[in-house]
Amino acid sequence: MDQQDVLDAQSGSQAAGASAARRKDLASALAGFPRVRLGHLPTPLEPMDRLSEHLGGPRFWVKRDDCTGLSSGGNKTRKLEFLMAEAAGVGADTIITQGATQSNHARQTAAAAAKLGMKCHILLEDRTGSNDAQYNLNGNVLLDRLHGATVAKRSGGSDMAAEMEALADKVRQAGGKPYVIPGGGSNTTGALGYVNCALELSDQAASTGLKIDALVHATGSSGTQAGLVAGLAALESDIHLLGIGVRAPREKQETMVFELAKRTAARIGVEDAVRREDVRANCDYVGAGYGIPTEGMVRSVRLLAELEGLLFDPVYSGKGLDGLIDLTRKGAFDGMQNVVFLHTGGSAALFGYPDALELPGYQPN
Ligand SMILES: *Cc1c(COP(=O)(O)O)cnc(C)c1O
Repeated sequence: MDQQDVLDAQSGSQAAGASAARRKDLASALAGFPRVRLGHLPTPLEPMDRLSEHLGGPRFWVKRDDCTGLSSGGNKTRKLEFLMAEAAGVGADTIITQGATQSNHARQTAAAAAKLGMKCHILLEDRTGSNDAQYNLNGNVLLDRLHGATVAKRSGGSDMAAEMEALADKVRQAGGKPYVIPGGGSNTTGALGYVNCALELSDQAASTGLKIDALVHATGSSGTQAGLVAGLAALESDIHLLGIGVRAPREKQETMVFELAKRTAARIGVEDAVRREDVRANCDYVGAGYGIPTEGMVRSVRLLAELEGLLFDPVYSGKGLDGLIDLTRKGAFDGMQNVVFLHTGGSAALFGYPDALELPGYQPN
């Protein structure tokens, strides 16, 4: 490195908003929690230059959490590193969790349980009412079963937490030791996985001298965003974080993220660092409801498949991408240089929605 490179790298890391000292403090706070290695980390941070050219505006990057390695990858893997360590720590031999029919969380949990030699029971809530065979049996449902999990259905609107507790009682009565993971792995333990992601991204930005202006991702059960909010607050980062909602209206989504972010921050010793104004969700891209395809999602999934060779999913990352693209066109990122989209995975769900991805009259670029 010559003198100029050193200066550039220094200004880069300062611009990224997280000093080496803050990063070191956060790394040692995280090291205090039990963790099992399940993911291929760090995940790559790659430019999406054909998308940037297509849209104009800032340079777009993708943080490849679809490549965490566990059963085709996704964001739940980072949460499960902390959750499964806690399960092992209390001597559990059976994992119980729940999700929607095409739950990526259920699939990654089934795989993690298999890897650690634990049983896994999955309860799937029918939130869409679809009778489609692909939706009900293919994609993530196929993989849940392949990993050896038992899969049972519950009707939409069931009290899934109560259903899981009833199942845990049965497991206990049969002499097992159940450990219940909430939907999406979204409690403070799971959210630590995304505190870790904030640190990882900050390290990547510092080592390459990249100034990240904004970070955008799909937000659902809120553990991903809460972990990122807490992690970025601990780092005193000025990255503009934006969740694109896939389920709840804005106020409800932001409140859910804020509450979990505060409790997560408390666990890493920075409770007061989380401010309400740092929690932003845009819930304009949900469409008719959770898991129900929108035209914008289909266009976005197809666009990125064709432009970048990337696979996004119909329920989460595809709607997140729809938000990213539409907001870019509306000027939301004007004046910014580098915008990162956190790819939370989910491509296994594509095989549960084969027909939804056809658009009558759709023309490739
Ligand atoms: C679960 C999930 C999300 C949302 O993450 P939360 O932590 O539940 O908010 C986003 N994308 C994909 C692909 C997911 O499976």
